[in-house]
Amino acid sequence: MIEPFVPQLVYIEPDALEYALGRQLKTKFEAMGIEIRETTSHNQVRNIPGKNDLQKYRNAKSTLVVGIRKTLKFDTSKPSAEYAIPLATGCMGHCQYCYLQTTMGSKPYIRTYVNVDEILDAADSYMAERAPKETRFEAACTSDIVGIDHLTHSLKQAIEHFGKSDYGKLRFVTKYHHIDHLLDADHRGKTRFRFSINADYVIRNFEHGTSPLTERIKAAAKVAEAGYPLGFIIAPIYLHEGWEEGYLKMFQLLDEHLPEKFREGMTFELIQHRFTKPAKRVIQKNYPMTKLELDEEKRKYKWGKYGIGKYVYQTDEQEAIQYHLHHYQEQYFPEAKIEYFT
Ligand code: SF4
Repeated sequence: MIEPFVPQLVYIEPDALEYALGRQLKTKFEAMGIEIRETTSHNQVRNIPGKNDLQKYRNAKSTLVVGIRKTLKFDTSKPSAEYAIPLATGCMGHCQYCYLQTTMGSKPYIRTYVNVDEILDAADSYMAERAPKETRFEAACTSDIVGIDHLTHSLKQAIEHFGKSDYGKLRFVTKYHHIDHLLDADHRGKTRFRFSINADYVIRNFEHGTSPLTERIKAAAKVAEAGYPLGFIIAPIYLHEGWEEGYLKMFQLLDEHLPEKFREGMTFELIQHRFTKPAKRVIQKNYPMTKLELDEEKRKYKWGKYGIGKYVYQTDEQEAIQYHLHHYQEQYFPEAKIEYFT
């Protein structure tokens, strides 16, 4: 059983103490006996302990920086939402394929932002611009926000904020089952709570430090019981020996643990495994023993943003993935819908 995340080391930016959440977190971490260091900026968090890069990387993933989000310009977040809402960055998980390894570069520590009210005000401005059209915000673009929210409750605040909004919707995805504090949030059906699921082979080999699949599914049932719209992201869909059987078993497990009454309106999002050349370099550095297949020759090149293309599966492999997963969804969850495959 994986325990809720507790940082080994906490850095607090002085400005963060001007916010109630910053002060609360300081008091909380002091009471927990966690080492706290002050820093003027997260860029100065250089002294992450460790004898070599690998140890530093591991220690950074259990280091939390409490700071302020200065840029309140949101990134776009297609295809699942219009904008990414930045409540935190970084993650304690060790998913070897995770794209955060590339985007976080040499600073893989976790940052949580205490100016939540300002971030939510910025979200309101984005909603006002598009009103009366609905605006969806994705809260898990730069972290597994649920994984740290038991400490900060900033996601809970966001859920309640969007609950009260006229045109806003919130969504996020998690691989953690520590969701109990979110069950009584006043969400008013405006937040889609998604869990990331995968075939056993992928979870066992590439998703270290995350909750087991059955725990994720049990948490999904609790969330649905609390009235949240529910979804599952199957990602990354990864071809391995016996993958057809692996994903079939995953659907069967979901079918076994998820009561029928929660299935209406449920969504699936399907994302195939992909990598970029820079990501491959970082993955092989951070996880030198990885079994992850990263052979450009076997893949199809897809042009990407900023000239950095990604390597996806060949067209016939993509068709096979879609064929099998659509078939399983129709067989076990005909009430649900697949939102997209990418
Ligand atoms: Fe990345 Fe999500 Fe895994 Fe965290 S849980 S390492 S964000 S894939």
